[in-house]
Amino acid sequence: MKLHEYQSKRIFAEHGIPIPKGEVATSSDEAREIARKLGGPVVIKSQVLVGGRGKAGGVKVAKNVDEAEELADQILGMDIKGLTVDKVLIDEAADIREEIYLGVVIDRALQKPVVIASAEGGVEIEEVAKTNPEAIKRLPIDLPVGLMDYHARNLAYDLGLRRVFVNQFIRIVKGLYQSFIDTDASLAEINPLVIIEGEKLLAVDGKIVLDDSALYRHPELVELRDIQEETSSEREARLAGLSYVKLDGEIGCMVNGAGLAMATMDIVKYYGGAPANFLDIGGGAKSDKVAAALRIILSDSKVKGILFNIFGGITRCDEVARGILEALNAVPTDVPMVARLVGTNEEEGRQILAQANFPSASSLGEAAQKAVNLAKGA
Ligand code: GDP
Ligand code: MN
Repeated sequence: MKLHEYQSKRIFAEHGIPIPKGEVATSSDEAREIARKLGGPVVIKSQVLVGGRGKAGGVKVAKNVDEAEELADQILGMDIKGLTVDKVLIDEAADIREEIYLGVVIDRALQKPVVIASAEGGVEIEEVAKTNPEAIKRLPIDLPVGLMDYHARNLAYDLGLRRVFVNQFIRIVKGLYQSFIDTDASLAEINPLVIIEGEKLLAVDGKIVLDDSALYRHPELVELRDIQEETSSEREARLAGLSYVKLDGEIGCMVNGAGLAMATMDIVKYYGGAPANFLDIGGGAKSDKVAAALRIILSDSKVKGILFNIFGGITRCDEVARGILEALNAVPTDVPMVARLVGTNEEEGRQILAQANFPSASSLGEAAQKAVNLAKGA
């Protein structure tokens, strides 16, 4: 789950990181009022859950209240990478001298959080990684030890920061790391962290991505979820208790179990197809869940065939077979499908499907090949 810039920066501020004064507006009148209260130039920032808002025209500096109102009016309602802007953050504008990148992510290979910093901030860090990898400094953190002052100090020297910034930088790195730990984040990022007049550091942008698997520990963060930023299929999947990730292929996959879902995607690829999604309907799924999953898969217009791969354990194959047929009544479609059911009550399950003329396969390889061929119209 992604947090908005304004939400992320509030969490950063609670951890001692300096951020600009600012407030969120949903109308240009409100934006004007906030700009008036702040006094002086302000920056109008679209609050949408994508990066590169600046380049897309979603971040603009206003010199006075009139301009603030006008720019807010322009940015509200704007479409940025498919998302409609319905909120803007009005921040005191910073007089930026230099831009630094600072982030914390999990390094899966090292099994540790790693602080990443670059003196080439502002632009996307992936870009710096391509064009100038030397400019990216990495500081892996040993979890039991944590982040010590001297780690952050060394990082500051590594970046070539001048002395006057070092102590501020240490505070900010520690605050960012603590924000990351306290929220169970998978990413906490300040880009850019800027140098402003008076030799001060300031976090003008902020981004936190929470680990969904740890959300149950943070009811207060779950409340920050912006429903409007979820696609309708993602929302439906979450409400139905399904793990769903949309992909770009044409074979919809409905599977029980995450590992089996991955194996199914692999085998679809092996036989020349491409999976349209990852979807784990979970153990013991009943027909309503199957119907919800089918609706979600079919809402993707690129899907040309659907592969059901069910391993019956707690989930009974006959229950799933009935679920598939009930779901098809509820969600009629011409998209061809094939099912492979094995495990508990598989015979019964297959019979139910056969009576309804629903194609099935006995092995996963056969099922995947059939699905790929059906999708090709063969
Ligand atoms: P992003 O494009 O979505 O990452 O949004 P950012 O908040 O990082 O803003 C993009 C760029 O706008 C930054 O890299 C800055 O160069 C610029 N920017 C952001 N805030 C300010 C500000 O307060 N003053 C000025 N002059 N520029 C700003
Ligand atoms: Mn940014």
